[in-house]
Amino acid sequence: MFNPDDRIAIALSGGKDSLTLLHIMHKIERDFPKAELYAITVDEGIKGYRDEALENAVKACEKLEIKHLVVSFKELFDITLDEIAETIKGVEGELTPCSYCGVLRRRALNIAAKELGATKIATAHSLDDEIQTLILNIIHGDVLKIARLPQDSPEAKNFIPRVKPLREIPEAEIAFYAYLTGISFQSRVCPYAPQALRSEVRFFLNQLEENHPGIKYTIYHSLEKLKSLIQPPSKPEITFCRICGEPASKPICEVCNMLDRLKKLKSQS
Ligand code: SF4
Ligand code: ZN
Repeated sequence: MFNPDDRIAIALSGGKDSLTLLHIMHKIERDFPKAELYAITVDEGIKGYRDEALENAVKACEKLEIKHLVVSFKELFDITLDEIAETIKGVEGELTPCSYCGVLRRRALNIAAKELGATKIATAHSLDDEIQTLILNIIHGDVLKIARLPQDSPEAKNFIPRVKPLREIPEAEIAFYAYLTGISFQSRVCPYAPQALRSEVRFFLNQLEENHPGIKYTIYHSLEKLKSLIQPPSKPEITFCRICGEPASKPICEVCNMLDRLKKLKSQS
């Protein structure tokens, strides 16, 4: 996943998974003097939730002496996730707060990683996250999203490569590691999580695992096989968004589309 001289930016939410990744990467990185480690926290603006996680993230970086960059939705997009949730509340056919959060956070991470000159972004996705996403893609009819992006594709070349070092580790084992090593992390759940279909899929997979131990690994191996079997869709050449100038496959990128829709909804209310 890494080269010995990578500048690695860890996406640090302040939850157990990302704090565990930070500690493990910090241990490994000591043996690679040419590699550099940074942490990025995206503050989505979720009152009573992100504040606590942010505190844990700041403390961990101070303790491990890792340069930490915090960027917020408010400063980058002039809107917090709480304001987004309020704007879309009750609007028929609207996306969930998590859909907005995912797209905007991805952009925020990319902006911050570029600022740091990072050559890799490491995220703390666990085995559970990976198989949940697989099931969600199947439910949404997005099976082509499972395909691996070829490294020489215009999309892959325009974005900082992302790696998931914990992707074969079950969430429960990451939590266990965090407990055993005394990492203090946030236990509160995001107030918008229950609205997401992912929560139901998570519950379903946990039930399956309880009745059939090891089944999460079986699903993960199926995912890996599917990745090599499914041909990635041939996408149009990457151009640049007419509004923000970021790489996009359409004239206006998804982030600008979302922000524009929110502006219209706000002005209607
Ligand atoms: Fe964002 Fe949804 Fe995660 Fe909350 S649960 S941080 S809204 S993606
Ligand atoms: Zn744009």
